Amino acid sequence: MTQPIPRSEALFARAGERIPGGVNSPVRAFGAVGGTPRFIESADGAWIRDADGHAYIDYIGSWGPMILGHQHPTVLEALRAQLERGISYGAPTALEAEMAELLCMLLPSLERVRMVNSGTEATMSALRLARGYTGRDAVLKFEGCYHGHGDAFLVKAGSGALTFGVPTSPGVPASATQHTLTAPYNDSAAVEAVFAEHGDALAAVIVEPIAGNMNCIAPEREFLATLRQLCDRSGAVLIFDEVMSGFRVGPQGAQGLYDIQPDLTTLGKIVGGGLPVGAFGGRAEIMARLAPEGPVYQAGTLSGNPLAMAAGLATLRTLHETDPWAQLAARTHELVEGWRQAAADAGLPFAGCAHGSMFGLYFGLESLPRNLAEVQQADAALFPRIFHGMLERGVYLAPSAYEAGFLSVRHGPAEIAQTLAAARETLAELTA
Ligand SMILES: *Cc1c(COP(=O)(O)O)cnc(C)c1O
Repeated sequence: MTQPIPRSEALFARAGERIPGGVNSPVRAFGAVGGTPRFIESADGAWIRDADGHAYIDYIGSWGPMILGHQHPTVLEALRAQLERGISYGAPTALEAEMAELLCMLLPSLERVRMVNSGTEATMSALRLARGYTGRDAVLKFEGCYHGHGDAFLVKAGSGALTFGVPTSPGVPASATQHTLTAPYNDSAAVEAVFAEHGDALAAVIVEPIAGNMNCIAPEREFLATLRQLCDRSGAVLIFDEVMSGFRVGPQGAQGLYDIQPDLTTLGKIVGGGLPVGAFGGRAEIMARLAPEGPVYQAGTLSGNPLAMAAGLATLRTLHETDPWAQLAARTHELVEGWRQAAADAGLPFAGCAHGSMFGLYFGLESLPRNLAEVQQADAALFPRIFHGMLERGVYLAPSAYEAGFLSVRHGPAEIAQTLAAARETLAELTA
């Protein structure tokens, strides 16, 4: 069966004439799974609808922000109310103070916070601040963690574990990554070796405290504890990149789940409620170094935009008031267990995990991976077929085996049942 998608095909061809690859962010182009990306016309609750009228249960949720589901009435109302008063002023508003207070109330490690326009800006700015605060240049990141597309983060490991990295993209000068060290995720011994050699030069360690950009990998408790301990000892700033995990895996993000306080936290996705927003914040003493209070420069024409603040505030307040995380976690767990059963019935090796409303599915693996190298042992040929089998049956997974999936509060029992029926059919077809 092949779903007819003439309008998506025409739109993709048209977009490709003027937009490189036809998309404004690469993974949307279906490069990892083949085929034509669906052009979306509308969304509601757990569902999105494409230009050809097909409806899909949406497990991307705009890559994380839409935890309340699409078109949540409270968010829409907040946006409409702000629209009546203006779209952007480039001058301070009460909304920004409310947002900063709310974020600091919700995340105990935040004493002060600065709003920006994307997760990329948040991590770039946090790194600059850490460097300005410590007077050091080096940064340690982990293989498979994604921190946006800032030059210093687009790095693959150097030739040895203790060497500085080389750029993964043309256009990134070697000089931009010459201060970036990498280590495997969950590898405390490697981190200890990096600190032994470079500890005095490290401005920061940046980590996704639950990694969602190499599928979905949980940290070992002892790994995060080691990072905290080594940063304390050397004076490096510990940055938790919770752009994805913040307000997604629990009310206090991964730092709440693992009970570790980073020095700085980067946020994005959910904090904008679907509008382009990022934030970074943390210890007051570090944040005080930021312009205009301190010397570390950072700015943004649209930062703290009132529409974005209205959507983000409405989203965060609704989450805080409705406390949906236990139910979200239970439903996500149920989904992953359903996949496990479907895979077992089809005789397919499978490992899956759920962290709050974030999940990872690994086809062809017997146990959960701990790092990027282990993720790469999953069966690369299987995922595109499973992805398309699900899409044909009205389920929209992320079009890559290296992305986590997300539920919203609008994913109810009917959506889970429909997804698992599609999963059983897809896997049966695959192994027939
Ligand atoms: C999405 C993401 C980013 C980048 O955010 P953008 O808004 O896409 O720039 C950074 N870090 C993590 C952990 C992310 O998931």
